[in-house]
Amino acid sequence: MDKILVTKSSMPNKDEYLDEISDLWNTHWLTNMGTKHKQFQTELESRIGVPHVALYCNGHLALENIIEAMDFPKGSEIITTPFTFASTTHAIVRSGMVPVFCDINPDDYTIDVSKIESLITDKTVAILPVHVYGNICDIEAIETIAKQHGLRVIYDAAHAFAVKYKGVDVGCFGDASMFSFHATKVFNTIEGGAVCFRDDNLVQKLNDLKNFGIHGPESVEYVGGNAKMNEFCAAMGICNLRHLDDEISKRKIVTERYRSHLEGISGIKLCVVNPDTVSNYAYFPVQFDKEEFGYDRDDVFNKLADNGIGARKYFYPITNSYDCYKDKFDATETPIALEISRRILTLPLYADLSFDDVDRICELIHSSNK
Ligand SMILES: *Cc1c(COP(=O)(O)O)cnc(C)c1O
Repeated sequence: MDKILVTKSSMPNKDEYLDEISDLWNTHWLTNMGTKHKQFQTELESRIGVPHVALYCNGHLALENIIEAMDFPKGSEIITTPFTFASTTHAIVRSGMVPVFCDINPDDYTIDVSKIESLITDKTVAILPVHVYGNICDIEAIETIAKQHGLRVIYDAAHAFAVKYKGVDVGCFGDASMFSFHATKVFNTIEGGAVCFRDDNLVQKLNDLKNFGIHGPESVEYVGGNAKMNEFCAAMGICNLRHLDDEISKRKIVTERYRSHLEGISGIKLCVVNPDTVSNYAYFPVQFDKEEFGYDRDDVFNKLADNGIGARKYFYPITNSYDCYKDKFDATETPIALEISRRILTLPLYADLSFDDVDRICELIHSSNK
């Protein structure tokens, strides 16, 4: 049997990509806001319907840059969740801020808005929630809390590209939203990322920050790093964007096949479907309850691994229990996130995953129960 990995990066037809980049051999303009970069940025702004998109070499540096651009005093507190990829928490810490961890909802794994206000102190400057697995946070409640307390809202929307909530693209919410275009995400530019925002004042600042803080030929305004997206990645984005809707509709069909096998089984919990959301079908997370299912997440993970199938313990461990944060944070303060991190497994999912493979994966899951 062939191995099945947890995901398979989307790629355009080879000739389509070669055609897209061929002009670069005429211009020799490979990076620093060339024509591909400009075109890709404009296409994203119009697709998302947001005034500004800043492109990055990856999502993580996009997140660090937007936090930096907001000029919070060092040591300020940012309320976030630990049930996420390393990047979210690291971006806060590396920017000199202090993450304050809020617990998550047990059904969709996004921030539990009822627990935000008790975490606000006079040092709190922002909320940084995650649209985890593409599930949309309770943006209305978050906006209300942020307004009442004068906080900024930055969304980690790394998982949520192309998701819509009540007809509006997810990139339009909060003061800013970050997307990741990493190879493993629903939409990729090989490596890449973006920040979406409305504030006109941030346009030049983000452009400067991602290019060493260089503002003009003889003026360096910020202590910036290097986080620009190059032309080859932008060209990949232009090509992949043409096929994105098609990819997502194929992912939907795969997801429905999974649901048909796994829905309604005692001890197995799937994500709740939000009727206000148009999904991108980025991930297929499943929770296993040993009491009811008979086997726990690790049993299922091992059974799949023994059969050449790569599921992923995503997210385990949670970020507030990382070794690098030992003695700083306490994972027991977010008990729901901690418990779910021990039960969750994301199953393989990509556009051309065959029904036969989905069926085989589900049979193995069912048979770990025998
Ligand atoms: C992938 C990811 C990031 C980081 O994006 P990169 O493009 O890999 O730097 C940040 N947050 C979450 C939740 C992610 O999954």
